[in-house]
This record gives sequence, C-alpha cells and structure tokens, in this order.
Amino acid sequence: MILNRRNFAKTIGAASIGAFIPGISIASTPAIIKSKKMKLSFKTYELQLTHTFTVASYSRNTTPVVLTEIEYDGLIGYGEASMPPYLGESQASVIKFLKKVDISQFKDPFMLDDILSYVDSIEKENRAAKACIDIALHDLIGKITNQPLYKLWGLNPTKTPMTSYTIGIDKPDVVREKTKEALDFKVLKVKLGGGNDKEMINTIREITNVPLYVDVNQGWKDKNHALEMINWLKEQGIVFVEQPMPKTQIDDMAWLTENSPLPTIADEAFQRLSDVAKFKGVYSGINIKLMKSTGLREAHKMITVAKALDMKVMIGCMTETSCAVSAAAQLSPLVDWADLDGNLLINNDVYEGMKVIDGKVTLNQLPGIGIKKI
Ligand code: MG
Repeated sequence: MILNRRNFAKTIGAASIGAFIPGISIASTPAIIKSKKMKLSFKTYELQLTHTFTVASYSRNTTPVVLTEIEYDGLIGYGEASMPPYLGESQASVIKFLKKVDISQFKDPFMLDDILSYVDSIEKENRAAKACIDIALHDLIGKITNQPLYKLWGLNPTKTPMTSYTIGIDKPDVVREKTKEALDFKVLKVKLGGGNDKEMINTIREITNVPLYVDVNQGWKDKNHALEMINWLKEQGIVFVEQPMPKTQIDDMAWLTENSPLPTIADEAFQRLSDVAKFKGVYSGINIKLMKSTGLREAHKMITVAKALDMKVMIGCMTETSCAVSAAAQLSPLVDWADLDGNLLINNDVYEGMKVIDGKVTLNQLPGIGIKKI
C-alpha cells in the first residue's frame, strides 16, 4: 500500500507527527502541486551564545537570526538566515527583503531553478535572506518526496567528515577550559590573529594532540610574518590555515599560498559561485557557508566547480540553529573538511537535527534537511 499522509497519520499515530508529517508518495504529487500555493512566513530570533565569541576583529554574545517557513499542501519547509556582524545584513534588512518575495506566484516547489533565480534577482546582496528561502524550499521538496536531501543528491551518509569545534581567542585559563569541554571532538578549529597566536596553540597543546584547523580571520597583515607563522604551525600539527591575510591583499595571498607548507582556505574573501575560479592559485581551497552562497543550490554548484579546479572544499557555518547547520550537513559527504558546530555554540536552539557523534557529522533519516522542532 502506498502511504498517503492520511494513512500515514493513522498508521503511526497523529500525536507523533505534528508539523513534521512525512510527505505524500511521488506518484500522487503532480495533481496536488497544480492546485496548491506556497506561503512564506518568517520571524526574528536571537541566538544566545554559551561563551563570548572572540575573533581577530570583534567579540559578541548573541547572534540575530530570522527563521522562515514555507508552507505548501500541509507540509512545512524550514529555513534560517543568520547575521553575524561582518556579513553586513541584519534582521531588519532580511525582513525587508523577505517582504519583497512573492513566492505564491510559483505553482511548483520543485522548480528551484526558476524560483531561486527570481529570488536572487530581487536585490544584489542579501545573501543570508536568500539562503533562508533556499533552505526552506529544499526542506519542503525533501518532505514532499519524503527523502533526506543527501539521498536525493545520491550521497553516501557514511562519508560525512569529522567536524571541528571552534575555540575563540581568549586568555589561557579560558582556552584551557574550552579545550577540556571539547575533548569529544576529533579536531578543533582555533581562532588566531589576536596577538597571542603561539600562546593560544601552546595552551591547547597542553590539553590535546588532536589535529587543529586555524582561522586567522584576516588578522595577519604582513606576508612574511604569515609565512613564518604557518611554518611554525606546521610543526604543531595544524591541518590548514583559513583566511590568513586581509581579503584585499590578493597578490600577497597568492605568494603565501605558493610558499605555504599548509593549504590556505578562503573564507571572508569568498562569497558566490563566480568567485571560485578567481581564487584558483590564490588560495588552496574555499570555505563554503550557506549564508554566503545564498543557500544549498549554489553551494552544491560551488563544490562541483572547486573539485573540477582541484581545489580543497570546506563547509562551514555561522552561529546558527540546527536548521541551517543540518542543511549544510546534507552536503558534507562531498567535502574535505567540515566546521559545522554553529548550533553547538548556542544554548537556545529551537530545532533538533544533525548530530555530532564521536566528532563525526551524523545524518539522520528525516526528510529534507533532517530537522524537527524541539
Ligand atoms: Mg572563517
């Protein structure tokens, strides 16, 4: 018997499904799509960080986000926009953008190319705002087909990477405490560029010998100093160095990458699909984040292009709920490295989704982006 939603509800009991009803069968989909409209709704939310988060240029205790839902035929796709200060977006700018989006004009949520091209054309920037629509749409089509996205993309869920857990710039006693809290992780990401780089690494190395990723957040301004530091970091078991120099110093970065014994990864310098090819030879690889890429559809294309150019691929996140982090995790079987800890840095998540088990990104069987409301 093919389970439609009504039969499914009867079978498993209405109490356990709530708004997270697995979808209709594909066979019965077309007739229903023609008669339904998509409805976008959104609300603001403030993420509370468990620890003050400090990188080379700022500190903060909260992150503003906007949570979206796209409702269609009794199913709801969830999305999220996260706005750390350096992205240049705010809750107000995201809401302003979302109010311009008329998603009800599209009859078929599977027409992602049409819908997301339209969304991208509304304004030039607003990448996080665009991402929260992209994520909700992907979640929705996963629910309509009743499949996790990684399955729709043909990916092997056992090939997910380990995720790093981030240690921000701080005094040695705090770094020591945070490192001890993170002992379940098989790899850590360390923020440098705050003037106490060697102290940060030495303090962590008192506690653990796990591989370390380093993120300088543009903090080193001189290429010779940067190379000297990278040579030293190589001896400390560091795997790669993310955004070592300011994004504007392109020639210096190309020189550094050519001479560096460790891979260099573009983060702040890198936003959209059209940037990937420009960075061949400037960086060894790219850090893809859904809030920069405008969501999953472009992120997937970025991975394809980067691999074709023999560049390394990392997938990262902002401070986010399990919504956007679980969405990014669906692509993680394709990448070299993952830094998907954004939901673990907050204490007021509203979703449950991707888990980190023994340090590894672990995908579940839930359809779409793999989350449910807590
Ligand atoms: Mg970074």
